Amino acid sequence: MTSWPDDYSGAWTLGGRAEIEGIGLHSGAPARVRLAPASRAGFWLGWLDAPDLPPQRLEPRLVCETTLCTTLDLAGRRLATVEHLLAALAGTGLTHVEIWVEGAEVPLLDGSALPWVNLIAEAGMRSLGSLPERPRLGRPLTLQTGSSFVTAMSAEELHLGAAIDFDQPAIGRQVLALALTPRTFVAEIAPARTFGLLSQVEQLRAAGLIQGGALDNALVCDGERWLNPPLRFADEPVRHKILDLFGDLALVGLPRAQVFAYRGSHRLHTDLASALDVELSLLPA
Ligand SMILES: [Zn+2]
Repeated sequence: MTSWPDDYSGAWTLGGRAEIEGIGLHSGAPARVRLAPASRAGFWLGWLDAPDLPPQRLEPRLVCETTLCTTLDLAGRRLATVEHLLAALAGTGLTHVEIWVEGAEVPLLDGSALPWVNLIAEAGMRSLGSLPERPRLGRPLTLQTGSSFVTAMSAEELHLGAAIDFDQPAIGRQVLALALTPRTFVAEIAPARTFGLLSQVEQLRAAGLIQGGALDNALVCDGERWLNPPLRFADEPVRHKILDLFGDLALVGLPRAQVFAYRGSHRLHTDLASALDVELSLLPA
């Protein structure tokens, strides 16, 4: 079993390279991702099919679309569904990583961050010493759209929370907040899978989206019941919301903050990442 870092105070890269292939949720097209050690701080994105292009550092300003997943625009080339991979990188404590991609979408795999955590375990983790202390938020930040909001306030350590409220009785109201360390991320958050509603699935398919969606990579809810039980946690949907929030915040680096999302979305999460980027310089130099 891999031993993960104790907390998020260190700088970590990968011990070696590791690669995985899979299908993109929205395009249904195959894609390949290689993770590699980096000597520079940050998550850097390069293309396996255009290795001469220098890798680009991922930042919130690259977010170009947030419908269903987080899509980045990297100098004119798009990459969709980055959030579960980024959650796994930041969640396990990695701070210096190169991501090399072939395709237009990061593969969905089983819909959770667990296959990415396993890939990181395969590559191993290597300490690069300690990070400069992360700056603290001076004042609370809150963003709202309709009845949804996300709020961040200063805290000693990283705490994430989420609440969801669905009419479908199988989901209903769920709330969870927890202090995060690499170990709690791997045990409590990484295994939670993407979920959707059967009614939406049919609409999205008809619109040409989620061509790669299947019952083995997303939990599908039909009102009173789940089409593909068993769940990994009784509250797997709200845990997945925290996973998505984590992945979107990873674009800016982990804040020393308590962050809570009520009926959050990738739009709200990434807007908060941008606001945090303006408010503090979180990324280690
Ligand atoms: Zn997700």
